[in-house]
Amino acid sequence: MVTRTVIQGAAIATVDGAGTEYVDGHLVVEDGRITAVGAGPSPPGPQDTVVDGRGCLATPGLVNTHHHLYQWATRGYAQQSSLFNWLVELYPVWAGLDEDITRAAATAGLLRLAQTGCTTAADHHYVFPADGGDLLGATVDAAAGVGLRLHAVRGSMDRGISHGGLPPDSLIETTDGALAGTQAAIDRWHDPAPDSAVRVAVGPCSPFSVSPELMSGAAELGRAAGVRLHTHLAETLDEEVQCLAEYGCTPVEYAERTGWLGPDVWLAHGVHLSDAGIAALAAGRTGVAHCPTSNARLGAGAARIADLLAAGVPVGLGADGAASNEDGGLGGELRQATYLARMQGGADALDVRQALWLGTLGGALCLGRADELGSLEPGKLADIALWDLAGVAHAGIADPVAALVLGALPPLRLLLVGGRAVLADGRPVHVDEDAAARDLAAASTRLAAAAGLIRR
Ligand SMILES: [Zn+2]
Repeated sequence: MVTRTVIQGAAIATVDGAGTEYVDGHLVVEDGRITAVGAGPSPPGPQDTVVDGRGCLATPGLVNTHHHLYQWATRGYAQQSSLFNWLVELYPVWAGLDEDITRAAATAGLLRLAQTGCTTAADHHYVFPADGGDLLGATVDAAAGVGLRLHAVRGSMDRGISHGGLPPDSLIETTDGALAGTQAAIDRWHDPAPDSAVRVAVGPCSPFSVSPELMSGAAELGRAAGVRLHTHLAETLDEEVQCLAEYGCTPVEYAERTGWLGPDVWLAHGVHLSDAGIAALAAGRTGVAHCPTSNARLGAGAARIADLLAAGVPVGLGADGAASNEDGGLGGELRQATYLARMQGGADALDVRQALWLGTLGGALCLGRADELGSLEPGKLADIALWDLAGVAHAGIADPVAALVLGALPPLRLLLVGGRAVLADGRPVHVDEDAAARDLAAASTRLAAAAGLIRR
């Protein structure tokens, strides 16, 4: 007898190709996958676990396309700095990272993502102090502990200040060391299986912290291994000025020269893009991870999301690291993305269903998983967010999707990853939230003390 989980009586936004929605519908989950979605109640089975979805909105679990989980232990610094000054202030703090700090930060950061509707998270980790230990392993452990799918982007930096880069020389790897570490991460953790919990991507950090040799070499390595490629690009005007001065080309042209455009690449930010840059991304089906809160926090600018979507560029949402987005949640980015687009292009620049698409199917496209994640359809993985709209903040609202995107972020009655509950009634199922907070506070204090920072 197959046990099924059946969600009954919920509003459902499937985010399928036709934008199918149900005012009162059901979802059936068997063996980690969705087997049915439709209007009205599902015919009962004898072994069903029934979830009462009345008063709730079911959406696909949100997909986070850009994050730096270790930064959860370094929130609240460099509050009025733009990117380059912010980085220069934070690099010495990050130099104290070790396995325990990374595990505590990743656990808390992933818990925050889960509590804001996220079921799959890409984490871009590019800081590897020489004596830091197994930092990527700590992040992989944390994701398994919380219960989220992880795309572990093995980042790298090989261009220190003595070679015109931004990071201190003490914090970079050699080019060969970075490539070897990247290959080792793929060999150890990358699982290409359709329902995998951990995939690895290749992620040299940015044009101003990575040599052209590492950019090219990492792209070749990733393609030989059949994994995806991720980096920061076109985040600030400072980056563009430096790129033009050093390489005589824009960041997008630099990406093209080094092998960083294509359907297996997704780029974080893409804030400063010309029409030609957008056309180049569209031609290569290169994805963009849009991080509106982080871009606002750092005063970086506003990405041209409506133009990117019109050009056919796959766009997903990212929380970015919590040192530049102290909220660290993903659900709130739906609203931030909507408002930022409207500040640029007017009230019809982005509607709430487009925002939900960015946070779900758009993200799955960026991560190369649109065939198994990002929408509620039979055959897809049962990664489902059941948002509770029954409280004062949302009750009676005309449109449940507007409640989610424009209203206060609702609590989650249930969050499923592969049909397995990660949150129930807003509380984590697999980890102790109070212990996670205590570990995070201790890790943050230890990191601050190691950097000689005195807190007022
Ligand atoms: Zn970032």
